[in-house]
Amino acid sequence: MYKIGILGYPIKHSLSPKIHNYWLKEMNINGKYDAIKTPLKKLEKTIKNLSKKGYKGLNLTIPLKEEALKYINKKNKTVNIIGAANVLIFSKKGQIEGKNTDVYGFKKAILDLVKNKKRQMATVIGSGGAARAIVYVLIQMNYKRIIIFNRTKKNAEIIKEDFLKKFSNNLKIKISCENLKKIKNNIKQTNLLINTTPMGMKNFPNLNIDIKNLRTDAAVFDLIYNPLETKLIKESKKRGIKSINGLDMLIYQAQKSFYYWLNKTPKITDKLKKILEKEIK
Ligand code: NAP
Repeated sequence: MYKIGILGYPIKHSLSPKIHNYWLKEMNINGKYDAIKTPLKKLEKTIKNLSKKGYKGLNLTIPLKEEALKYINKKNKTVNIIGAANVLIFSKKGQIEGKNTDVYGFKKAILDLVKNKKRQMATVIGSGGAARAIVYVLIQMNYKRIIIFNRTKKNAEIIKEDFLKKFSNNLKIKISCENLKKIKNNIKQTNLLINTTPMGMKNFPNLNIDIKNLRTDAAVFDLIYNPLETKLIKESKKRGIKSINGLDMLIYQAQKSFYYWLNKTPKITDKLKKILEKEIK
């Protein structure tokens, strides 16, 4: 039986077991995907234990994606640049490979949202692990300018410096950083606004920003998927601004993770999306 799972803290509300166990069943694969509550200080021990127990690999979520790099033997360029892995792949010889499928998930999910839209300026809210993955994709998508707004401006500046260093100062893109409080008057020219903070998520306060100045031909991506409609998404819709929540990103990152463990690509269907949406509601 294939054993896979997700580590995180908290982990109870993760949708990943629903997604992966659905695919295992649909594809007649004898396997099980577990959610395993893992605080930061137990990460190393848990990874080693599960690897010894014959797990194919793991997903990682908050707050483990950055810390996990310490226990990885093999990582690709993406993981190196972002500094976070959300997938571990265990080899039979005990090697641990780290991958980042949040990047893939975001890239796939955003395609339709920004189709035929200008790529002059992108605005990113937040400076955590998710923001790093998003900034990386925006660079690849050739946005000319990226502004990172964060509660703690210094954390945004750390991302900027890190990216400049990793791209050996060869970035054609201009990245700037601002305090989140200044966002209202700085989003007039943005073509894409992305929330990468947990604000707006169930049990968190709303992201309290004024999007009155956002152009109606801009696009909004909220990484939150629970609730399906955050205040940010609701307000965007009210203004006729095209928007998307984080559910597609989550499913695409899961699809790629599944492929890395089992070498098979599961199907993303309306049935699966409906099951997840029902679970959230
Ligand atoms: P993280 O590393 O903990 O980063 C959190 C960021 O949010 C930081 O920049 C932090 O600002 C900011 N923040 C936290 N509380 C805030 C507040 N009260 N007011 C303003 N800003 C606040 O988390 P992460 O791993 O980047 O994940 C962030 C969110 O993205 C989570 O909700 C996660 O579920 C979601 N996510 C979704 C997907 C998907 O597939 N849809 C994938 C990955 C992540 P400071 O720097 O000031 O602390």
